[in-house]
Amino acid sequence: MSETIVETSTETEASGSGHASKYTRNQPYSSKVQVNRLLTGPESEKETIHIEMELEEGMDYTPGDALGVIPTNRDEAVQAVLKALGFDGTERVLDHYKVEISFLEALTSRLGIGKLARGSVNQYAKLAGENAPEALKALTGPANKAVAEEYVWGREFIDLITEFPGIIKNPQELFNVLQRLTPRMYSIASSQAAHPNQVQLTVRVVRYNSHGMERQGVTSGLLGERAPVGEMLPVFLHENNAFRLPEDTNAPIIMIGPGTGIAPFRAFLEHREALGHKGDNWLFFGEQRSVSDYLYKEQFLAMHASGLLTKLHTAFSRDQEKKIYVQDRMRENSAELYAWLERGAYFYVCGDATRMAKDVEQALLDTIALGSNGTLEQANEYLAAMKKQKRYQRDVY
Ligand code: NAP
Repeated sequence: MSETIVETSTETEASGSGHASKYTRNQPYSSKVQVNRLLTGPESEKETIHIEMELEEGMDYTPGDALGVIPTNRDEAVQAVLKALGFDGTERVLDHYKVEISFLEALTSRLGIGKLARGSVNQYAKLAGENAPEALKALTGPANKAVAEEYVWGREFIDLITEFPGIIKNPQELFNVLQRLTPRMYSIASSQAAHPNQVQLTVRVVRYNSHGMERQGVTSGLLGERAPVGEMLPVFLHENNAFRLPEDTNAPIIMIGPGTGIAPFRAFLEHREALGHKGDNWLFFGEQRSVSDYLYKEQFLAMHASGLLTKLHTAFSRDQEKKIYVQDRMRENSAELYAWLERGAYFYVCGDATRMAKDVEQALLDTIALGSNGTLEQANEYLAAMKKQKRYQRDVY
């Protein structure tokens, strides 16, 4: 995590939380699901859900924070692995803390049997030793890195043990092969000023077909499929001091949040609304289609109508032949965007790290260069100064 630009990873392991709350990843809070509803319409190519969970008194978070959700592997996936390995799950193993548990429990809540890691393939081949099949050996070692990367793409542990069976002799060996099943972090989509005893999330349920099998994201699958109202989920709050509303409640903010990247901005807006903060708010939201993918449409339209959202721009990429993205809307409004920056606006980006965040940064640099009649080099200096003032913050994953 850098000083000024925050690069939180919403899908990876979190470090410790600085919260006063007594609950941590090792001692999570058991939270009751109160709402779990689909945000996307039937025509959507995606399945994005809104979840509300109950929090205990004293579990406080600030907009920008994340919620860690501790997943379990789904039963079908666990059973498939047991069957492929020829065990029944009653075998005893020692977990990462040397506590004895059943193999079934280990596969359910301790070991990452989802997405296959290259390291797991290496360890698996090591276990096989001299007897490793040639095709497995060909996936190991530095020279075969690229082939192995290609192999693990879209595959899970079940694919490896099905293709190269008979290598695991003792269930304990899996602790050397598989990564730990770790919590996933989701940017919180609500403000506690508006929902005192609740935390809300916006989650895209990841489902795909690869190598002839239907797959699910481990945690998003849990939230999408196994977290009906009333279900208890182990969670903990994760502080993110590097993604924060300005201390000056009158400072204008510009928020770029396509897809699930909208989550922390809903929290920001709810917060400013609940507390009557006067700063101007400008939201850019992007998704595939307005009819099915406009997340929190009514709420944002109401915020716009009330004046809380000073400006609201949407970019529905697939509503027309030529794709339109949030950065296109930025460019269309570049003069005003630059005027906001000159007024001291804070600029926030949340969502896809691989392409969107880079393209948005380029659009921001172009906006600055155009607005200031300067070079791209000068725009870079301008942006560097914004970062120093914590006026450019990102939560990308
Ligand atoms: P998304 O994939 O970021 O899509 C949102 C909108 O952004 C779509 O209209 C998309 O258009 C557009 N887009 C595509 N490329 C873009 C670019 N270079 N610049 C600007 N906009 C672009 O939204 P999402 O499905 O909600 O995913 C958001 C992020 O979460 C991604 O990084 C995704 O990998 C990650 N993620 C989330 C979860 C989760 O919440 N459970 C799980 C896995 C991954 P087109 O699609 O029409 O090109």
